[in-house]
Amino acid sequence: MLIAIPRESIAGENRVAMVPESVKRLVAQGFSVAVEASAGAGASLTDADYQAVGARIEATADALFASADLLIKVQPPTSEEVAKLKADSALICLAYPLANPALAKAIAARNVTLLCLDMIPRTTLAQMMDVLSSQATISGYRAVILAAEATPKLFPMLMTAAGTIPPSKVLILGAGVAGLQAIATARRLGAVVEAYDVRKVVKEQVESLGARFVNIDVEDAQGAGGYAKEQSEEAKQKVAAVLAQHVAKSDAVITTALIPGRKAPILLPAVMVRGMRRGSVVVDIAAEQGGNCELTKPGERVIVDGVTIIGERNLPSQMPVHASAMFSRNMEKLLAHITTKERAMNLNEADEIVRGMTITRGGQIVHADVNKAAESAP
Ligand code: NAD
Repeated sequence: MLIAIPRESIAGENRVAMVPESVKRLVAQGFSVAVEASAGAGASLTDADYQAVGARIEATADALFASADLLIKVQPPTSEEVAKLKADSALICLAYPLANPALAKAIAARNVTLLCLDMIPRTTLAQMMDVLSSQATISGYRAVILAAEATPKLFPMLMTAAGTIPPSKVLILGAGVAGLQAIATARRLGAVVEAYDVRKVVKEQVESLGARFVNIDVEDAQGAGGYAKEQSEEAKQKVAAVLAQHVAKSDAVITTALIPGRKAPILLPAVMVRGMRRGSVVVDIAAEQGGNCELTKPGERVIVDGVTIIGERNLPSQMPVHASAMFSRNMEKLLAHITTKERAMNLNEADEIVRGMTITRGGQIVHADVNKAAESAP
């Protein structure tokens, strides 16, 4: 089976789906691997690095797509790339098929099997293959670095001959994978950290990282699969009143709150931002899903009344070496799960992970929820 790794074509995407370290192990296992020329350039990897571990370099995307049995990439394919997909091949990538069923339809029409990375069930077994988790870890780290860079203050407390500098106060809203990494990173930089999440089960994790959990007396909003569910209107108002006081005291607020399948909840309305001191910073990791801050402009950095609001997209791409390395490790684990010892595809429909992530097969959309989304799409 020939595994093909293209150069990511979307502007600003520096990651590559597989790094040489993984290619080396796959080649040793009997896979053939082809890599498009310069595919690793954004992640500081050269074609020679890939050749040295046994990959073949393809000069063009056309040649690479035409030879692939299994194409592995990070971002969803563009329409030009869909047109290049080889019939009867398989594609592994992020694809957001519930939000974009038209892409799934187009891939099915090419008779290509789509294995979608953002649909892998978030079970313990699947965690090793879960790029949403690995990349959220990077986002959490990067968000704190952006905040530290944008703030005019120091994060750590300093006691010097020139006086004592108090530590910065950082508030993290949402303590899932990204939020917990943000807490750990802000603590390492010496900030005093507080965090809030609607799922009270995370309180202990927050405290174990050296942050204070903001306790608000409302019902717990842990939903199915360990994710958050929407809070009642009454609870939202109570939470907003308490958070407003914490936000006003914070030098940096990092928001990470998501509810699966819905627009990100607004946790920082404009009035709360206006209550922040000049020079404070908001980093909105949820910008891609609409943002947790009412004033976030997705993809931009704006300053409102002296408060910098960072809504940059695709934070993992800003740390492309380790983001690619973690993505690549996830792909190795996934390949081990979906291929035989003879290095052929083995898509066992009885398997929960395979069933969850297989979106198209045999020219059809085979995932019930995506089919429903495709039927109701305009
Ligand atoms: P997520 O990205 O969907 O959401 C981020 C965080 O925002 C969550 O902790 C959520 O509770 C919180 N949130 C939502 N609405 C909020 C609001 N209004 N106010 C404050 N916080 C709010 O979640 P995630 O980081 O992907 O993980 C959520 C859970 O799933 C965690 O318990 C995690 O350990 C678990 N998980 C399991 C796996 C796996 O087993 N494969 C993988 C990833 C995550």
